[in-house]
Formats: sequence, C-alpha cells, structure tokens
Amino acid sequence: MTVSPTVLVIGAGPAGSTAARALSLGGARVRLLERARFPRNKPCGGGLTSRALVRFPHLGPALDRITTHRISRLYLEGPSGAGVVLTSPMPAVVTIRRAEFDNLLARLAVEAGADLVENAWVSRAEADEDGALVVARDGREFRADYLVAADGVNGVVTRRLGLHAGWDESSVALDMMEEAPTERLRALDPDTLWVSYGQGGADGYGYIFPKRDHTNVGIGCLQSHFRARITVTPYEMQQRFVGELRRRGLVAGASSRGDFTPYRIPMSGPIRRTGRGRALVAGDAGGFVNAYTAEGIYYAMVTGELAARAILADAAFDDPRRGMTAAERYEDAWRREIGGELRDSLLIQRYLFRDPARIDGIVRNAKACRDVTDLIIAYAMGTIPYSEARWRILRRFPRVVFRLARVALSA
Ligand SMILES: Cc1cc2nc3c(=O)[nH]c(=O)nc-3n(C[C@H](O)[C@H](O)[C@H](O)COP(=O)(O)OP(=O)(O)OC[C@H]3O[C@@H](n4cnc5c(N)ncnc54)[C@H](O)[C@@H]3O)c2cc1C
Repeated sequence: MTVSPTVLVIGAGPAGSTAARALSLGGARVRLLERARFPRNKPCGGGLTSRALVRFPHLGPALDRITTHRISRLYLEGPSGAGVVLTSPMPAVVTIRRAEFDNLLARLAVEAGADLVENAWVSRAEADEDGALVVARDGREFRADYLVAADGVNGVVTRRLGLHAGWDESSVALDMMEEAPTERLRALDPDTLWVSYGQGGADGYGYIFPKRDHTNVGIGCLQSHFRARITVTPYEMQQRFVGELRRRGLVAGASSRGDFTPYRIPMSGPIRRTGRGRALVAGDAGGFVNAYTAEGIYYAMVTGELAARAILADAAFDDPRRGMTAAERYEDAWRREIGGELRDSLLIQRYLFRDPARIDGIVRNAKACRDVTDLIIAYAMGTIPYSEARWRILRRFPRVVFRLARVALSA
C-alpha cells in the first residue's frame, strides 16, 4: 500500500490544478508542472455554468478573490436570424477571465500542498506499472508513482504515451477569440450571453460574452471547414464578425489585433483510451468538451478531480473493486458522471450540423416549449442532474430518441 503516493500533474489549467488540489488534500505528494509562468492567459470565452459551483462547493467562496460577472439571460440565434431569449431565475453562468481564474485554481492547489513548478515545459513522458518519468525541455527529470496528463488540446503527453495520435482537422473547432477591455470593445447588453449558430457555415457559431471589465467576442467553426471554405485569414474573419455585430448595434468599439488569440477546441468527444495503468488523461487533452456548446472548463475540473480520486483509491487499495488499474477506475468514474452527456452532445452536434435549419427549429421550439428550456437551465445551474433533464425531455419529445439513434447508427 502506498499511503502517500507521488504524482506528476502536467499542465496547470482547470483540469491539472483541480487534480493537484484534490490529490494534495487526499495526502498525495504532488508536483504540478506548468510550461508557463502565472498569471498566464488561456484563450477562452470564460463562461462557467453555475453547476460548477454546486459540483465544487469550495469554488464559490474562492471566486470572491477574482473579478466575476453573473449572468441570467441567454440570447440564442439560429442561422435564419430568428432568436430567443432564455432567462434563468438565478445566474446560470459566471463569466471569468482565464488569466485570473487559472491563477486562482493554481493557488488553491498550492494552498492544498501541491508543488507548482513553473517554466517546466514537458517534452517527454513515459509510464509503466511502476511509475512515471517526465523530462522537461531544459533537461530536468521528474519521477513519480502516477501521472496525470492535463496539458490541453495542444498537449504532447498523450502522444508520448501512445494514447492518442493527435486531432485531425474535423475533430477540432478553430475559435477566433478576442478578449478586450470594455474601453476597446463593449457588449451593449452586458447582462446577456449572446450566442448565434450557423455563422460562416453549418458548423459555425459566434458569441459575445460580457465580463465585468472585459468583453469576449468570437467566431468559430470546425478547422476542416475553415481550411476548405473560408478564404480570409482568421483575424480578417474576426474583424468582419465584429463589424457585423457593430452594425447590428450589439457591440461598441472595434477589434484590436493585440486582443486576438485564435485557439483550438476538441469537438469529437473523449479519446478512446483516457489512461493506461498509472497514467490518466484529464480535460482537453482527453477531449472532454461538450461537442455542441464547446463548454470545457466544467468537464476539465470534473475529470481532474475524478483522476485524483482514482489515483488515491488505487494507492490506498481501499476500493472494493480490486484488480482494476487506476486508469480503469478513472474511466469507469468519468463514464458514470459525464459519459452520457458527452455522448449525447456528440449526437446532437452531428444532428444539428447536418442541416442548419434544424437549429432554427430548436430556436422556434424554445419559444413554444418553456418547460423544456427550464429543464435545460436547471441542468446548467446544477439544480437537476443531466440524467433527469434528459429523461424528462425525451418523455416530452419521444421522437428525439429515434432521430438521435439514426445519427448514432449513421456515424
Ligand atoms: C476560444 C475558446 C473559447 C472557449 N470558451 C469556453 C467557455 O466559455 N466555457 C467553457 O467552459 N469552455 C470554453 N472553452 C474550452 C476551455 O477553454 C477548455 O475546455 C479548458 O481550458 C480545458 O482545460 P484544461 O485544463 O484541460 O486545458 P488548458 O486550459 O488548455 O490547460 C492546459 C495547461 O497545460 C499547460 N501545458 C501545455 N503543454 C504543456 C507542456 N508540454 N508542459 C507543461 N505544461 C503544458 C498549458 O500552459 C496550460 O496551462 C473555450 C475554448 C476556446 C479555445
């Protein structure tokens, strides 16, 4: 029995810092290896669904240390331009700046006892049944009993471990994202999340996420679509989008090249093997992103925490299901908690991307079926679990089962 296992966590984003905190609180000795120095930015809309505060009760009080903006209104627009406003009884989304939020999560890990090693750019990783070895670009070597790969969508660890060959262009979205201070770019309705589908193609989307002192504006589509169909550069695409939003009276100000950071989002669901033996993969590195909302922070934190629990259980042999490796315990745990919603998100994405008119249908129905939108809002707020929202929606619209089954069979 390894009472106090040693663990290397690679990447101090939401997945890695959450894993490092949970491991440290559980008695593990943790090194959190991060290639950057904090505070560092991560291109992201920074919209955190309130269910994260229910799932991670320590997070609410911790958020008081950074700037946040709470939002209770979502405007959803279909490709035809038809839109609907959904309102939640309490804020369903908190917007944060990742430069501040990720710094906070890393601090929480350090306060729990993790050793944060900045400027540690991992270039090599090996793991077997005895433990893990990681080598940084500058030659430093780190060894431990376990490893958590949380190095994001561009990470190298899954490839080094032979768990994933990398993302092809139809598996990731390219998101043109701009985060600007409100003096430069301002949402004219700062209390509404604005999301539009069908921008620049069937799989395209655009958004305005207001924050307390900043505004995030972005437009994105699958990288394969961008390469095949878009004839302008990423920044030209962004400038045109901001221009269109200004003409429509949705934002004031202008796009600025220095605030623009395009980045990739995995959109094809979890990778086939999310671990092997004592090496586990969490967050974007494992493809844990909702395939039609592109929400990833919540899933990164959940998988980080589940990876920590699997390692602690494995090290203590206190799990009744002996004989399972840490990777098997982990896969079992994430499939139970978030496997269903991630699988459904992929089916919904495929169903909607095949025909943009279907998104218009959803917008129209959202107006007519308030009971269903209330269920989705309750799920985003963490008031009801996904399984309950799903069951009640399918009972209301039984034909959806057949449509999704058809998509699943034709995939
Ligand atoms: C433009 C855009 C908008 C988005 N908007 C939202 C949103 O509004 N809400 C939402 O929930 N999700 C959103 N997402 C998704 C979300 O940003 C990700 O799902 C989330 O950041 C995943 O967290 P992570 O910890 O897995 O990875 P990351 O946040 O990418 O963290 C990975 C960490 O690993 C470090 N790292 C990488 N390689 C190495 C290495 N070799 N050695 C050491 N360290 C390394 C990086 O520096 C980084 O700190 C968006 C994504 C994009 C691109």
